[in-house]
Amino acid sequence: MVKGRRRNYQLGGSKAVTYPSDVAVGEEATLAGNRLLLIDPMGQIHEDELGEFMERYVEPAFVKWWRQKEAARRPRVEGVIRPMQVESPVAEEAEPVEMQSVIPGPQVYLVNCWRCGGQIAWRVDLGTRGGCPYCGAWLQLVSR
Ligand SMILES: [Zn+2]
Repeated sequence: MVKGRRRNYQLGGSKAVTYPSDVAVGEEATLAGNRLLLIDPMGQIHEDELGEFMERYVEPAFVKWWRQKEAARRPRVEGVIRPMQVESPVAEEAEPVEMQSVIPGPQVYLVNCWRCGGQIAWRVDLGTRGGCPYCGAWLQLVSR
């Protein structure tokens, strides 16, 4: 497989990109797509067939895979608050020396993934459906 990053050129009214030197090319190339392009540099596959394959397989699969990647990049919960009562049985009597106010972030529910069991901090503001950041399974948050 060839992969890389190439410069986009302005070429008259069109934009151009060059193939890496080891790619076999024909007289013409066929292509289909929009946000992503599927290119046959040999031009042997008809553009309609490339377009059909792109719509049916590449785009849906890519969107699903990309969302899972995005979910995995979200920050994980690093710690859980230790309630004062558990920490010290005399907490109500002894006033803590240093008590600083903190501003709450987004509302979060702790849930466990049905597939991998991983604990997820579900940010309510991001919606009720999403992908597990560990295994990618799809989850829907429902109220009891
Ligand atoms: Zn999971």
